[in-house]
Amino acid sequence: MSKQLIYSHLYAWYEVNRRNLPWRETEDPYAIWLSEIILQQTRVAQGLDYYRRFLARWRTVEDLAAADEAEVLREWQGLGYYSRARNLHKAAQQIVEKASPATGDSSLFPRTFEEIRSLPGIGDYTAGAIASFAYNLPYPAMDGNVYRVVARLLDIDEPFDTSAGKKLFHKEIEKLLDRENPRLFNSAIMEFGALYCTPVLGDACATCPLSEFCLGYAHGTADLLPVRKPRPKVRDRWFDYHIYLKPSAVSHQPSEVYTLIHRRENPKDIWYHLYEFPCEELNNDPTAAGGPTGKAGLTAKRSYSNAVYECTHTLSHQRLHARFIIHKVNELPQIEGTIAIPLSALDEYAFSRLTLRALDTLRTSLPH
Ligand code: SF4
Repeated sequence: MSKQLIYSHLYAWYEVNRRNLPWRETEDPYAIWLSEIILQQTRVAQGLDYYRRFLARWRTVEDLAAADEAEVLREWQGLGYYSRARNLHKAAQQIVEKASPATGDSSLFPRTFEEIRSLPGIGDYTAGAIASFAYNLPYPAMDGNVYRVVARLLDIDEPFDTSAGKKLFHKEIEKLLDRENPRLFNSAIMEFGALYCTPVLGDACATCPLSEFCLGYAHGTADLLPVRKPRPKVRDRWFDYHIYLKPSAVSHQPSEVYTLIHRRENPKDIWYHLYEFPCEELNNDPTAAGGPTGKAGLTAKRSYSNAVYECTHTLSHQRLHARFIIHKVNELPQIEGTIAIPLSALDEYAFSRLTLRALDTLRTSLPH
């Protein structure tokens, strides 16, 4: 297989088909890093908005480091996987702390793969992407699209998401990488996987610019690749959220209504440091025969006539069954860890996507 020929076919395809994305037009490592973190687990169309907003609000890594974590989470709201935002903020602070005393120039983003890789929230892929896109350093950037293209080109049926599989794929991409032009190579192969050699191939192989080099196509296995390890079982959880509504006692604000929220404080659980309404987690399905048991100490089937919103929300390894229950009260109950806020201030807090969905639906049932 001639690598030079692969490069020329791949680059010719890329030249014609590449999307104009703002992070492709810059060599600023900060902007590239932002885009890479935002685009993990996020579609480009959705990520674009967030990228522009983050960059407009925090133009440099110093600006981001100086922000409050709560502000960053608030801006991240709706993207999910909030640990990405927390790590982004933590990494910005580390970069500024390290750069300032030694260089007097806190805008200096790390310049080596190892330094970039050592930042919170940055794995091999992201470090390779920043090192190659910003500095044209010869490191591969293996995202899901690249794994797929490499698996098919080389007909590799080893699961790519095991440590042995990762090693094997890494060895192969190291051999394939264009060391003269890593920025172009990584951009082109990622785009090729995203737009052409997609999970469902259809007739793509017949007219593919790389078909003459593709072992998966030659062996008739391309459609079956790449192979993943078996997925872990999804865990079900049941949450009852209680939305307490209490009219204000302040006479000059007759229409202001107060509610309770609290911040999730378990770093090992989902949505660390995000806000939500007081939440009661049940150990099993509260609507099933026998009813909920366990944490809430309940044994009878529980139903709420005032449960105004119910939904299922799926995360990578958890399926959440949520009910939002409205309670109109004269006094807000005393619940440890909660704070009372006016409903009009809800927008100032970062909530999970699940709670935002509920709020969207409930907006008409809540007082304005
Ligand atoms: S021939 Fe098919 S499987 Fe091979 S690289 Fe092209 S599109 Fe992908």
